[in-house]
Amino acid sequence: MFRKIGSVMLSLCLVLFLFAGCGEVNALESASKLASNYNITATLNYEDKTLDATETVRYINTSKNELTELKFHLYPNAFREEATTYRAVSETQSSRAYPNGFSEGNIEINKVTIQNKDIDFAISGEDENILSIPLESTLRPNSYVDIEIKFSLLIPNCNHRFGYGENTLNLGNWYPIACVFEDGEFMTDGYSPNGDPFYSEVANYTVSITYPNTLKIATTGTVLESTTDATSTTTTATARAVRDFAMVLSDKFETLTTTVGDTTINYFYYDDENPEAHLETARLAVSTFNEMFGAYPYTILNVAKANFLQGGMEYPNLVYISDEVDLDSEYNNVIIHEIAHQWWYGVVGNNECEYAWIDEGLADYSTALFYDENPSYGRTSSEVFNSALSSYLLFCDVYRDVYDDLDTSMNRNIHKFNTETEYVYLTYVKGVLMFDSISEIIGENRMLSALRDFYENNMFKTVTPADLIESFESVTHKKLAGYIMSWLDGSVVFEELRG
Ligand SMILES: [Zn+2]
Repeated sequence: MFRKIGSVMLSLCLVLFLFAGCGEVNALESASKLASNYNITATLNYEDKTLDATETVRYINTSKNELTELKFHLYPNAFREEATTYRAVSETQSSRAYPNGFSEGNIEINKVTIQNKDIDFAISGEDENILSIPLESTLRPNSYVDIEIKFSLLIPNCNHRFGYGENTLNLGNWYPIACVFEDGEFMTDGYSPNGDPFYSEVANYTVSITYPNTLKIATTGTVLESTTDATSTTTTATARAVRDFAMVLSDKFETLTTTVGDTTINYFYYDDENPEAHLETARLAVSTFNEMFGAYPYTILNVAKANFLQGGMEYPNLVYISDEVDLDSEYNNVIIHEIAHQWWYGVVGNNECEYAWIDEGLADYSTALFYDENPSYGRTSSEVFNSALSSYLLFCDVYRDVYDDLDTSMNRNIHKFNTETEYVYLTYVKGVLMFDSISEIIGENRMLSALRDFYENNMFKTVTPADLIESFESVTHKKLAGYIMSWLDGSVVFEELRG
């Protein structure tokens, strides 16, 4: 996201192909073979703003544990009237998100079956945000189970990841997605008005959606087929080794297309006086980050203007750019930031609830470096870093005055930040300052080498701060863990910055 300044016999089969020799198969091929599969067939009832879907998941147990249940996130329930998460937005953004007043959104699980047997599922969590599916037979490591979930959505009138506004209908975080199983438990963080409260592993998707033929669709993945009759269009898209699957639909979309290497970039827009320039920004961002960090491994990237409350939002192969961003330089900045997320979040994933500074800090840092490589945008990374330092120190002063105390730790769960402002400064702004500081210590060339190493070694995986530190230390042969941890735990660096 961009912010200025989430005993019947089961089909338990040993996945023998998992460890077949990969040979010369590239990283994406290897990752997709290890990944779970989602097959979703959906019908959008546009007049009612509802959606009915059947989701078939082939869930592969890639953990070392035997599993007796599976858990899935139900993010649309954050938009319920009774939701505790401020109905998915902070109070200060409520009127921008809900310009016509609050509008309910939710997900209803109608049926869960395994091998045609109804399963007695449970919905739990503070915001009814977790679907628990008991397994009648233990799911062993490297085995899979096929689950069918029938569900219905109520899409809110909300300018958000999931919702519709005057121009677009956004389907982000809209279907049951498996919780990551890690260190012996499922990661079940609920929605937060702060940040992007998501965490998922790469999976393969085939999604088929039927919608009125007056709409155009921007989607994760490559469109395999699109058929239209007198009233409706059915589009089937497929994506391999992606962390999520999102779509944006609009009857106002126009499109422009370009390519970078094997990647096709589409810009879906409306009310844009200079769409060629914004497509060019997207092209330059992909080209620059390809060179800087390593190649974008997918053949498609869709950039979609959308009703969205603030800045933009990243999904695999698809980014939202808010139509509320008026200033052209800021609109370009959002495009660059969200595309940087294709590297940091998309290909190299992290738990965005625990370590949001990894993907947000790196996305903003990458955006700053973009400007040095593309001087026509009239900004330099030095200007970005100096501005970040000034505003960060001001934030510290104000916060210390207001709260009599200042906690600048970055390694904090998304739910542990007191305000959205605190989250933004400690995740984005301090993240940028930390990466700039590391670059000053080790030199820009070794900084880029470390980030290339980090990218290459962690493609399609999920990382922790230790993985990032490992890349910095292996490239520089220096012990940097203590220095980096002092930024993350907020113990030392603040006073040093004040200098
Ligand atoms: Zn972001």
